[in-house]
Amino acid sequence: MQYYCESLTSYKRLLTKEVNIGGLLLGNGNPIRIQTMTTTDTMNTMATVEQSIRCIEAGAELIRITAPSKNEAENLLQIKNELRKRGYHTPLIADIHFTPNAAEISARIVEKVRVNPGNYADKKKFEQLEYTDADYAEEIERIRERFTPLVKICKEYGTAMRIGTNHGSLSDRIMSRYGDTPVGMVESAMEFLRIARDESYHNIVLSMKSSNPQVMVQAYRLLISTMYGEFGEIYPLHLGVTEAGDGEDGRIKSAVGIGTLLEDGIGDTIRVSLTEDPEFEIPVCKDLVNRYRPVSEKNSMVPQIDKLAYDSFSYQRRKTFSVNNIGGKQVPVVVADLSKIEKLTPGNLQSIGYTYNEETDKWSIADAAADYVFTGNQILDFALPGTLKVIVYPAAWQEAVDKSKYFPIFSDKGFAETTTKSEQLNFVMVDCYSDETPVNDTTFVDSIANDPSVVICLSSTNSNAMQSVRRMFVELMKREIQNPVLLITDSSWQTPDEHLIHFATETGALLLDGLGDGICLGYSGSASMQNLQVKGRTYLPVKDVYQFTNNTAFSILQATRTRISKTEYISCPSCGRTLFDLQETTAKIRAVTSHLKGLKIAIKGSIENGPGEMADADFGYVGSGPGKITLYKGKEIVRRNVNSDIDLDELIKLLKENNAWVNP
Ligand code: SF4
Repeated sequence: MQYYCESLTSYKRLLTKEVNIGGLLLGNGNPIRIQTMTTTDTMNTMATVEQSIRCIEAGAELIRITAPSKNEAENLLQIKNELRKRGYHTPLIADIHFTPNAAEISARIVEKVRVNPGNYADKKKFEQLEYTDADYAEEIERIRERFTPLVKICKEYGTAMRIGTNHGSLSDRIMSRYGDTPVGMVESAMEFLRIARDESYHNIVLSMKSSNPQVMVQAYRLLISTMYGEFGEIYPLHLGVTEAGDGEDGRIKSAVGIGTLLEDGIGDTIRVSLTEDPEFEIPVCKDLVNRYRPVSEKNSMVPQIDKLAYDSFSYQRRKTFSVNNIGGKQVPVVVADLSKIEKLTPGNLQSIGYTYNEETDKWSIADAAADYVFTGNQILDFALPGTLKVIVYPAAWQEAVDKSKYFPIFSDKGFAETTTKSEQLNFVMVDCYSDETPVNDTTFVDSIANDPSVVICLSSTNSNAMQSVRRMFVELMKREIQNPVLLITDSSWQTPDEHLIHFATETGALLLDGLGDGICLGYSGSASMQNLQVKGRTYLPVKDVYQFTNNTAFSILQATRTRISKTEYISCPSCGRTLFDLQETTAKIRAVTSHLKGLKIAIKGSIENGPGEMADADFGYVGSGPGKITLYKGKEIVRRNVNSDIDLDELIKLLKENNAWVNP
């Protein structure tokens, strides 16, 4: 194993133990299983059965159903019987929070139970306590007493278990000793795993979910290396980003978190949590998983990594100097590729955030406006908005009059040979370990290394594209080359979702490790996504491909927390505990707050797991009873049981009181 995966330079599945979930094998190289969770009331047998069937028909291989108390746990039997009667034998999972008795009932009925180690044996008091080692050991013994009966039942009935840690619901014990850190998340699961192993129970899957993909990825990596270090073996992993939200943002956030790990061969089952009906999560899961079928073995051109030049367990941005507005401490830039448009007009720039008003002769600039536009050989025949600069091929650049606005892009060889280059800023393209580049040919690096005018543009045609770009970063860091780097990523996939997932995975996996000072997304095939019908699915047409790509770029930077350009909604996917219509509520909150750039608003159906779940949000809107909601500022309740007909007024009032509101 290399740090946390089988290989850092080629795709290879991480070898994990095999788990049997009602006959469905998971881990140990079995296909990556797709799962989802119902959102119906578990006591409503028929609604839950119908929704489960819709998910199964869509391709779900496991169905999770919430069992908040004994009654719901018992009703799982009706649900299971009805499904089996109708010919559906998909394994079912009971989702448990707080209630060991519901877990013990469920474990006798369904094929798998999910427990949250943050609340299985603990009622949270949200206290910061001091634990001596003896106190801590006593606490572990108390957990052992509470948890062992469930382990024994699972063993007896052949039931599998997921120990599912949530970043937002760690126990007081873990919070006091480790804080809400990846280390705390890992330890939270390890405490339960050690107890299960002591009972010789191994039918276990683990997860480390967070709504922050950075925390989530670090926690999974750390869990793998911890398990391997302590046991010499690794249990299968269930991947997920919690509360990813809906639409494009939800898909991108999930792809950044889940995709980053899948790229390294990590993950035996996945769930994409979207604030949409659960059957809509399945196609996104399939798009993520299908990227690795069939597994590509051709990767000979990427040299091994002997020593990683950065810490993969904590975030630190690669050190660079700045060239113009790229690199250094500046946020990553977005480059829009409009080179396929034959004759660019001011109207075309609207797709990338610049709207021209002829009457006033002024540009208005959106929050998500590209910083650079690549036009190929075109010099624009209109005045540019102040914040936009143009990248062109060298011949066109020589003709450009305003050299403070136009900058050339060279091939690596072209740059080494040229005598005419910009004094301020040159972009130099490098194809990382392509099949034509001999492994040790790094002569191009010598010609650009630490030239203060050069931004390196890394792309890859290698079948292990992300790994080859990462390998090049390691080479640059080893040689102490501090030029900023632009990530150039092309997609040859077909559907809008596949493009989103490809872009988010390929660039997100690097940005989460602090690698990259800008991104440029493009299409190697046709960029048209009109009225697509692919694999029996019809896709809504993407009206404006350039706007789609530009928004995707900004959403990836937002999801990786490297550049914040819009309001972030941390909305839960909803489940049988939900106290209002989450999709509708998210839409109405978004309608009044979407202009509040940088603000993070959590929207949750319930607060089952406590205010710790607000850790990642500035404000929270949470269901607290039928027709009632509670508002949070951080983890603190500031308005309790507000009638939902005045909820938005109260939310806006709260934002105003905290200087978080501006008029749209
Ligand atoms: S926050 Fe509450 S309603 Fe939403 S998914 Fe979690 S438990 Fe269900």
